[in-house]
Amino acid sequence: MVSMFNAILVERDAEPYRASVKNLDEARLPAGDVTVRVEYSTVNYKDALAVTGGGPVVRQFPMVPGIDLAGTVESSSHSAYQRGDKVVLNGWGVGETHWGGLAQMARIKADWLIPLPAAFSTRQAMAIGTAGYTAMLCVMALERHGVVPDSGEILVTGAAGGVGSVAVALLSKLGFHVAAMTGRPAESDFLKQLGAAEILDRALFAGAGKPLAKERWAAAIDVVGSHTLVNVCASLRYGGIVAACGLAGGMDFPATVAPFILRGITLAGVDSVMRPRPDRVEAWRRLSRDLDIKKLDLLTEEISLSQVIERAPRVLQGKIRGRIVVDTNR
Ligand code: NDP
Repeated sequence: MVSMFNAILVERDAEPYRASVKNLDEARLPAGDVTVRVEYSTVNYKDALAVTGGGPVVRQFPMVPGIDLAGTVESSSHSAYQRGDKVVLNGWGVGETHWGGLAQMARIKADWLIPLPAAFSTRQAMAIGTAGYTAMLCVMALERHGVVPDSGEILVTGAAGGVGSVAVALLSKLGFHVAAMTGRPAESDFLKQLGAAEILDRALFAGAGKPLAKERWAAAIDVVGSHTLVNVCASLRYGGIVAACGLAGGMDFPATVAPFILRGITLAGVDSVMRPRPDRVEAWRRLSRDLDIKKLDLLTEEISLSQVIERAPRVLQGKIRGRIVVDTNR
């Protein structure tokens, strides 16, 4: 019996780059030891690049994008998973080199999956998604450096976006004084509801600044890169740290070494995609403990699979508030 499923398919071939919803034969799913009935996925910044062709995310064509998925195991040839198990996947090149989560079905390697934490539904896990899991990895990087609430103010850039909004929610629940940097003053109330103590205009960080600025932040989480990250480094307090995970404002880093050699600051790079499994399991454990579900609901919007294509450009324009969760079955 032929079994079909809906998916977003990105094609390039002879035609221009294009994404469309297709009804595909399950036989086309790639090799893998676990087949998952996907319930929810999401649209991260990277997924928006994959859907629009705005960046070189997709490495093979045709590709089903979607770096995240949560669902139920349909069949498994791996002893770690049985039919009916609830699972989550983030990254590992899924949606880039291996068919991903913006589909009703996925077939993947068992090693890439983690069991769905008991604290979350599949929908909540995707409201968190790679953006939220990365926010947790950033918070963990600050903690490893010894940053505690008494250390001082923490700055979060791109605060109204996915990584930023979850970072604000996590840090405030953990008792930190959070300053949220945003280009959208209209989202000030939203950011305060998430727990930001202060809102800063991103224009203050956008231009070429001085090598050293007034010392202010004990630590920071940056999703913007470029001049913003440089200015964050220049305004960290002596011995401070910034966890850098994003490039929403640019991939360049036009910095001087001054804050590093004169103030002993640390630039901690955070990658979520190839992160070893123990760190992932720990990050999801911490999310279960430290993320306020009411705040998660506040920052989540749900869309259908068919709405992903028209919504993706708005993600790249920085116009989405918080997180988008995708119901792959409608
Ligand atoms: P979102 O699009 O949800 O949020 C990005 C936010 O950055 C926007 O909401 C906006 O915030 C701000 N922003 C956008 N453009 C600019 C600009 N030109 N200058 C300054 N600020 C800008 O994306 P995500 O939160 O999902 O991802 C953020 C970044 O982190 C992306 O670059 C993404 O690729 C990266 N990332 C990296 C990961 C890793 O493993 N290293 C994992 C996940 C994400 P506001 O409106 O508040 O100013």
